[in-house]
Amino acid sequence: MEQIAGFLAPVIIYAYIFLLNVLVPGRWVTGYATKTNSTEKLRYRLNGIQVLFIVVLTWALICHAGFLPWDWLYTYRWQGLAGAVIFGLIFSLVLVLPNTPVKGSFFADFYLGRLENPQLWSGRIDAKMWLYLVGAIMLQLNVLSFAMHHCLLYGTQSSTGILLSTGLLTFFLIDYLTFEEVHLYTYDLFAERVGFKLGWGCIAFYPYFYAIPQWSTAALPDANTPTPLLILYALIFFTGWSLSRGANLQKYFFKKDPKRTFLGIAPEAITDGNKTLLVNGFWGLSRHINYLGEIVMATGIVLCVGHPLLLWPWLYPLYYVALLFPRQIDDDKRCALKYGPLWNEYLKRVPYRIIPGIY
Ligand code: NDP
Repeated sequence: MEQIAGFLAPVIIYAYIFLLNVLVPGRWVTGYATKTNSTEKLRYRLNGIQVLFIVVLTWALICHAGFLPWDWLYTYRWQGLAGAVIFGLIFSLVLVLPNTPVKGSFFADFYLGRLENPQLWSGRIDAKMWLYLVGAIMLQLNVLSFAMHHCLLYGTQSSTGILLSTGLLTFFLIDYLTFEEVHLYTYDLFAERVGFKLGWGCIAFYPYFYAIPQWSTAALPDANTPTPLLILYALIFFTGWSLSRGANLQKYFFKKDPKRTFLGIAPEAITDGNKTLLVNGFWGLSRHINYLGEIVMATGIVLCVGHPLLLWPWLYPLYYVALLFPRQIDDDKRCALKYGPLWNEYLKRVPYRIIPGIY
C-alpha cells in the first residue's frame, strides 16, 4: 500500500497545488507573451509563493502530527519518481494529441508541443506557470525530505554542508517564486509550446533531477567540509545568483520602462528606431550572463554537499551546461531574425555569448 501511495504522491500533491493555485488569492498581471495570432498580451494570475508556503506547511503539519515520517518522500523517492514520469507522459499526451499539428512529424509535435499558451478561465490557471509551480514545489518537498532523512540518520553528526545546500536550494526556489512575474519575460514563456519537453520536464525531471546533489548524498556521512570552505561555496552560489537575478531584473525593468535605472545603472540601449536592445550593466558583460549565473549557482550547491569526487551531484551543473549552451545558440538565432542589423551591432558591442572574456 505504501509503495502505491509513494507512486501516487506526486499526482496527489500536484492536484493539491492546482486547487490552491485556483483558490488562493493572487494578483492579476499582464505578461509579455501574446495570444496566438494577436498582439494582445496574455493575462496571468500569480500566487506561487503563497501556494509554496501553504504546501510546505501542510507537509510539515502532516509529518509533525505523525501521519507520515519526515523522510517519507525520501523513502519512496523511486516510486514517486516513477509516478511523476508516468503522469508527465500522460499530461503531455493529453495536451498534444487533441490539438492541430504544427510540425511535419508527430514526434516533433509531441516533444515541443502544439499549443502555445494553454490557459483555463481566462488566465486564472496558466499551463506553463502551473507546470513551473508544481516542479518547484515538488522539488522543495523532495529536498526537505532528503535533508530530514540525513538528520534522522546522523542526528548530531549531520552534515552542515548538506543542510546548507538544502537552504541554498530553498532560497533559489523562494527567489524564483518571489519574482514569478519576471519569469513571464523569459524564453519558454514567449517562444515555446507545451509538449513533453515542458510538461514532462516540469512534472518529472525538474523536481527529481534537480535534487540529485541531495538525493545522492543524503545517506552518506558528513564530509566534514571546513567552515571557511562552506562560506566560500555559499559565496559562489550568491555570486551566481547576483548574475542571474541581476540580469533578469535589469531586462524586466527595461522592457517595462526603458528609462528606469536599475541598481543605480541607467539603461544604455541601441536602437534602429523601432526596436531596442540593452547594451550595458549585466547585458554588457555577455549576451547571456544569466546562464553563467545559473551554472555558478548549481556549482555552489554541489560543492556544499561535500563529496566532490562523487560524480552524481555534478550531473546537476553539467545538465545546465548541456541545456543552456545550445539554448544560447538558439536564442541568438531567434534574436538575429527578430532584430536584423541591430543584432549585428549588438554582437560588436557585446561579443561574448556567456562567459565574459572567454566564450
Ligand atoms: P533570457 O531571459 O536571457 O531571454 C532571452 C530573450 O531576451 C531574447 O530572446 C530577447 O527576447 C531578449 N533579449 C536578449 N538580449 C537582450 C538585450 N540585450 N536587451 C533586451 N532584450 C534582450 O533567457 P531565458 O528566457 O532562456 O532565461 C531566463 C532565465 O531563466 C535565465 O536566468 C536563465 O538562466 C533561467 N533559466 C533557468 C533554468 C533552470 O532550469 N533553472 C532553465 C532555463 C533558464 P525579446 O527581444 O523578444 O524580448
